[in-house]
Amino acid sequence: MYGWTGRILRVDLTTRTHRAEPFSEEFAKTWVGGRGFAVKILFDELKPGIDPLGPENKLIVALGPISGIPAPTTGKAVVAAKSPLTGFYGDGNLGTRVTEQLRKAGYDALIVEGRAERPTLLYIEDDTVEFLPADEVWGQGTFATNDWIYAKYGKGVGVLNIGQGGENGVRYATIRSMEGRSGGRPGMGAVMGSKLLKAIVVKGTRPIPQANAAGMKAVGTADLKMVHQIDKDTGWSRQSTNGVLAWCNEVAGLPVQNFRKTSHTEAWKIDGQRLDEARVATYGCPTCTMRCGIAIHDKEGHESELDYENIGLLGANLNIFELDQVGSLNYLCDDYGLDTMSAGCTLSFYADAIAHGATTGDFTFGDAERAKELLGLAARREGPVGNLLADGTLRMARAFGHGAEQYAMQVKGLEVAAYNCKFIPGMALAFGVAAIGAHHREAWIITFELKNTTRDSYGPEKAAKVIELQRIRGGMFESIVSCRFPWIELGWSLDNYPKYFNLVTGLDWTLDDMWRLADRVYAMIKLHYLREFPNVTRQDDYPPAVWFDPENADTEGPIAHMHLEADKYDQLLQHYYDQRGYDRRGIPTRKLLETLGLSREADEAARYATLT
Ligand code: SF4
Repeated sequence: MYGWTGRILRVDLTTRTHRAEPFSEEFAKTWVGGRGFAVKILFDELKPGIDPLGPENKLIVALGPISGIPAPTTGKAVVAAKSPLTGFYGDGNLGTRVTEQLRKAGYDALIVEGRAERPTLLYIEDDTVEFLPADEVWGQGTFATNDWIYAKYGKGVGVLNIGQGGENGVRYATIRSMEGRSGGRPGMGAVMGSKLLKAIVVKGTRPIPQANAAGMKAVGTADLKMVHQIDKDTGWSRQSTNGVLAWCNEVAGLPVQNFRKTSHTEAWKIDGQRLDEARVATYGCPTCTMRCGIAIHDKEGHESELDYENIGLLGANLNIFELDQVGSLNYLCDDYGLDTMSAGCTLSFYADAIAHGATTGDFTFGDAERAKELLGLAARREGPVGNLLADGTLRMARAFGHGAEQYAMQVKGLEVAAYNCKFIPGMALAFGVAAIGAHHREAWIITFELKNTTRDSYGPEKAAKVIELQRIRGGMFESIVSCRFPWIELGWSLDNYPKYFNLVTGLDWTLDDMWRLADRVYAMIKLHYLREFPNVTRQDDYPPAVWFDPENADTEGPIAHMHLEADKYDQLLQHYYDQRGYDRRGIPTRKLLETLGLSREADEAARYATLT
């Protein structure tokens, strides 16, 4: 078997034991890697109903066949577990040297089980696994922890670590790596913290098995240069993802004031041009030649690496339009190890709930200094307010009552990314049916929708586009494990990916094979959901209620008096279900599951809930 090392490393923190487990060629071809591996392993090994922050949960780090290979943007890893935020399968990806180092150590994935007795650093070097004390950095932020690790092991090692957010079980705590890379929005950092696992350090010395290593090297080296040249020619990484902010503001798609407003006259102060002008450094993931991490100096003088999502949600959505203050909030999230999107949404929801009388408090939109204090309270779970904030938007809304859930900007418990879909039905659907909750990673249809379709259409073509994007983004890229930006931003052909895959595995896959894999992965995530929430309804695939509320419609601008219409959204959702082969609850039918080769998984899910 080429392309895979053929082994998974299983580590038990309770017993301080480990073993390398071989996996079959059939497993490799069925699940490929990354999200595919994680979703299958967690489905087979976790009983429904377990406490996500208990020792029974398992943390997965999963790589794909092209991970760590010198080719465009292959330096990503998927981190996954049962989510403490959403209560079912959760994952994320991040750029990290762990990708290459773990593959060189001889593993395609790592499973971490149990709970350590004391703060622990897990050190992996080829066949050696050590459980080392990390008390010295327990309680410290991710930057200090990273420095501590680099001082011990040098900068070339792969590192995953958590900050105070993960240690204290903040439900949207992330895992961090390198200078500015984060992943695992739905609380993967909290799962790591619940195991008293402060850091994972990996070093590998073996070659990654490839069917045609010389061919892959030639193609990969040339493509790295080509991607770099296209980026230079197009100038994409001058503003990187934040190039979209000015456009979102113009088309009434920017989240402002807890998504109450869709644009702001001061948005230009935090747009891509201003970010580029303030740039003091540029960062990127390993094997990336279009590095998108733009760092500025924040209000306190730290380097803070920003992108659109964190500027949109820690800036515009909190009515904060000073770039250095947005940088400060972002720096704190990074250091505490908190997801910037969920943190931004949670703070803005809190300000909105106070403004609407659902609770009392001393936080108002635009108050950057209080926002900084609140992030600290959340990361430390300090006092009642810190504890509420640490639980995320949905739990806060339920605690407040008074109808606050209507404007809690989340789907399935995961906070909405920075696109305001008051009147963008396709993107609202993309959030509604995103596999793990309202993540933009799954189906970023917004530019296609606003540039190529009628904005007020709820037709089947939008459902078809969401599925097409889910297959590409949430299925293929997350399972072969590669960053999607060369394709999205530079027009790098999708055909390159089966080409890389075939060079390393010796197989002969086409994009159609990738889509079948993607459909299998999406169906499996739905089965996870069904097992955890047997009373699932189609309402679970609805975006936040406030987008349907006429009283929340803009009073001026391009979408004045317009809002999503519930009956039409429901039709659009049904188009999605019909095209996917899901039933009226949004669950794959048994027939579809059998077609995807998931009969055994269907039988298992049927023990907990009805399949049609
Ligand atoms: Fe990482 Fe950005 Fe490069 Fe993607 S484009 S690999 S996110 S630095």
